[in-house]
Amino acid sequence: MINMAIPNLTGNEKKYLDNCIDSTFVSSVGEYVNCFEKMVADSTGSMEAVATSCGTTGIHAALTAVGVSYNDLVIIPSFTFIATANAIHHCGAEPWLMEINKDDWCIDPFLVKRELATNCEKDDSGALIHKPSGKRVAAIMPVYTLGNIPNMHIFNDISKEYGVPLIVDAACAIGAKFEGEDFGKLADLSILSFNGNKTVTCGGGGAVVGNNDEMLQHVRHLTTTARVWPDYDFDEPGFNYRMTNIQAGVGVAQMERLNDFVAVKRKVRKYYQKAFSGLQSKGIGVFPTTDGASCWFSGIVMPEGSLLEDSKAVCSKLKDAGIEARTFWKPIHLQKPYANCPKTDTSFTDLLWQRIITLPCSTNISDEDLSVIDKTVNSIFS
Ligand SMILES: *Cc1c(COP(=O)(O)O)cnc(C)c1O
Repeated sequence: MINMAIPNLTGNEKKYLDNCIDSTFVSSVGEYVNCFEKMVADSTGSMEAVATSCGTTGIHAALTAVGVSYNDLVIIPSFTFIATANAIHHCGAEPWLMEINKDDWCIDPFLVKRELATNCEKDDSGALIHKPSGKRVAAIMPVYTLGNIPNMHIFNDISKEYGVPLIVDAACAIGAKFEGEDFGKLADLSILSFNGNKTVTCGGGGAVVGNNDEMLQHVRHLTTTARVWPDYDFDEPGFNYRMTNIQAGVGVAQMERLNDFVAVKRKVRKYYQKAFSGLQSKGIGVFPTTDGASCWFSGIVMPEGSLLEDSKAVCSKLKDAGIEARTFWKPIHLQKPYANCPKTDTSFTDLLWQRIITLPCSTNISDEDLSVIDKTVNSIFS
């Protein structure tokens, strides 16, 4: 079977894990944690990185650090992984779900602007209130879908104009660039994931980077139980969300190869664009790619009007041919826990998600595998 996205662990991972055991530094203190944070900060152009136990806990800590709390709303695209919404829920808040753009599958900044202008007003305390629900809009959180970065200038303008923090779920976007620059400075805080299927993995893990030092220090404090040393004093309800030295040991070995990994992801995207260009006449497309996209996953988009069953049928044909293929994120407003959240029109999302098929894109995928996928996909649609 040619797998979807398996970890590539042929670098220094084993050696660094051995060092963790030999040194007894297996927990949240250790040289690999420091080193990993430095590498993640450098590679994202951020002043600092706070390593966390996973991406979801990173988002939870980031939202908490900017003050998202009980009864608030956080703007996110409905087309995202469930963790984006779960982290909001765990703050006692609720997502305000929005439509995405056709050309990058990210939340539409102009839509956010219109919604804030028409559906919100400032109250006497200066809080931005969503009029239909009476709830405060406490953060705007775009998602860098598949490593595509939307127009962040507009999001920053909106954030400033309305005084609402800008947080990014950049969980799957390591290596992505916007206007030639790394994304660490594009928002107050951005969160990365190092889960097993991401471009860089720690087994599990996450990190918070950003452009706002005060917020970053608050995240660090919250993730380490909000302890005020040297005694057992705590100044707010904190979390134990720190990454361990074991995770970071794997992460450092992976980060040593970041540029190579991202280069392969981009190569696979280009390969599929070329291999399936002949299917355009049948209405079959590939994933949108912004300038500087990090191309986490790649695949095909079924013709307009295709439903989930049609995509699943293609996946099962591919599976029979030894190729792992899957459908992708089901939107948040169609998920049981979030079915009643405030939302915009989502007519594009509603049809799009059913048409997406992800194809193998491991960073150690061989040319031979790519050629098998090329031939098989083309023959399925011929
Ligand atoms: C992977 C992912 C997450 C969750 O990260 P974990 O490390 O698995 O908790 C959140 N959001 C998006 C967009 C992701 O792709």
